[in-house]
Amino acid sequence: MPPPGFSTIAFDGPETINGKPAIYLTFDDGPEPGSTNLVLDALAKTNTPATFSTIGSIISDTAASKALVKREIAQGSTVGAHGWMHLDMSKWTRAADREALTKVKNEIEKVTGLAPTCSRPPYGSYSGNLSWETSHLGMRIQRWTGDTEDWARPDPDAIMKTITKSWKPGYVILLHDGGNHGAVTAQVVPRIVAEAKKRGYVIGNNLCPMTTDLNLTTAPLPPTSS
Ligand SMILES: [Zn+2]
Repeated sequence: MPPPGFSTIAFDGPETINGKPAIYLTFDDGPEPGSTNLVLDALAKTNTPATFSTIGSIISDTAASKALVKREIAQGSTVGAHGWMHLDMSKWTRAADREALTKVKNEIEKVTGLAPTCSRPPYGSYSGNLSWETSHLGMRIQRWTGDTEDWARPDPDAIMKTITKSWKPGYVILLHDGGNHGAVTAQVVPRIVAEAKKRGYVIGNNLCPMTTDLNLTTAPLPPTSS
């Protein structure tokens, strides 16, 4: 594991912003033309920020994917890493973890000019190696408070029920813009925004702020590479 003092894995976000309780929207598995744009439309309508956990190989694939990532930033959302491919990295060597994380980080930087500070490994699976390599690259692992299981139950009512059940300050809501879930997820967005308003919550944009420091590191290299 990384040396003590490095906070490498987070579940909840900051509980308050300017004294108001906050929740955070996170969307995984994009960018996906035909799906991510629907989520972005819903966010734009309500002027709501979110964090997108993106897959590097998909970003690099098409101009349309790159345009979606740029639009995420332009709308005031932030972009984090979700891996180069959608693979479980928790059993990989440090070298393999480093290579995949570096590739997705570089791809995000190439397209946005900004470095991500969060990585959410696919399936939320991580190891000591992965968390250390993530920290070395200036990112922390950002998991989630509650899984909405929007991928398994594409029903806006069921998703909202799960969300309201776990609602609390610092709640990091996991949703998916990839996997062709955008149409359903887009229906949930205004309902979350209305719920937040009703409860006096803000939807935060500070879960995973991006940085212009492309060489940021929050941990030294591991002593040996395997
Ligand atoms: Zn995923």
